[in-house]
Amino acid sequence: MTHSPCIGAHVSIRGGYGRAARSARESGAACFQYFPKNPRSLKLKPVDYRDALSCADYCRDQGMSSIAHTPYPTNLAAGTREREGMAASLRNDLEIAEACGSLGIVVHFGHFARMEPLQGYQNIIQCINDTLAGWEGRCKLLIENMAGNHGQEGMTLEELVKVRELSRYPERIGFCFDTCHAFAAGIWNPEQTDELLERGERLAYWTALAAVHLNDSLYPYGSRRDRHAGIGRGCIGAPALSKLLTQGPLLHKLVVMETEKGPDGTHRDEIAAVRGWFGGGA
Ligand SMILES: [Zn+2]
Repeated sequence: MTHSPCIGAHVSIRGGYGRAARSARESGAACFQYFPKNPRSLKLKPVDYRDALSCADYCRDQGMSSIAHTPYPTNLAAGTREREGMAASLRNDLEIAEACGSLGIVVHFGHFARMEPLQGYQNIIQCINDTLAGWEGRCKLLIENMAGNHGQEGMTLEELVKVRELSRYPERIGFCFDTCHAFAAGIWNPEQTDELLERGERLAYWTALAAVHLNDSLYPYGSRRDRHAGIGRGCIGAPALSKLLTQGPLLHKLVVMETEKGPDGTHRDEIAAVRGWFGGGA
């Protein structure tokens, strides 16, 4: 059976959003991820509508989809003092991504540092509520599972589902499943992929899944270390990634690699290789 998979990679916006979409296309991608603004800062960026709309138009014409990734300092669990700035930054990311025609903005679950866990979860829900209050766009907040390198939080599907359920606007929230993080967190043992698929089914996690971060892992299963490796060059391996990706619940999702670029400066070869897993679908 052939199927047209939506495979792509993270791309730079150095030449603008429209340029990012075009260069993704040139590398054979059907989708891509980008940083809506400086990835190292929460400083708000005015929306460049001309550029963003040229990205949206191009993607519509080409049948491409995209997601944005929020800046690294974003922490949904931040305390009261920082929350306003956090929500404003997330709202800014949503506005840019919406203008670019993207499906959502990916945000890490958040980390608690020295916080009481219950306070941390409460902060996350509050920050999500503040961000999404009055948000009318189609662009969703996509919560990503964590590797466990910051602490225990955000490693399990149960937590992600619960946070979505307890927030005020669950319909504006989706998930982004990172394969490296799931493997490193020990929630996906490639020898028992069916177990993960069943758990996601039982929790109704997959129904809210919008995107997959397809990464191999430099470190072993359960290591709780977040270091991506090229597809088939890490401890997960291509057969296991392929098995997971070509199963029912992940089949029609947007798949983005966050791996090193190939020698030609693009992800062309990796995209072609992953596309091959789907039995020649173009
Ligand atoms: Zn990721």
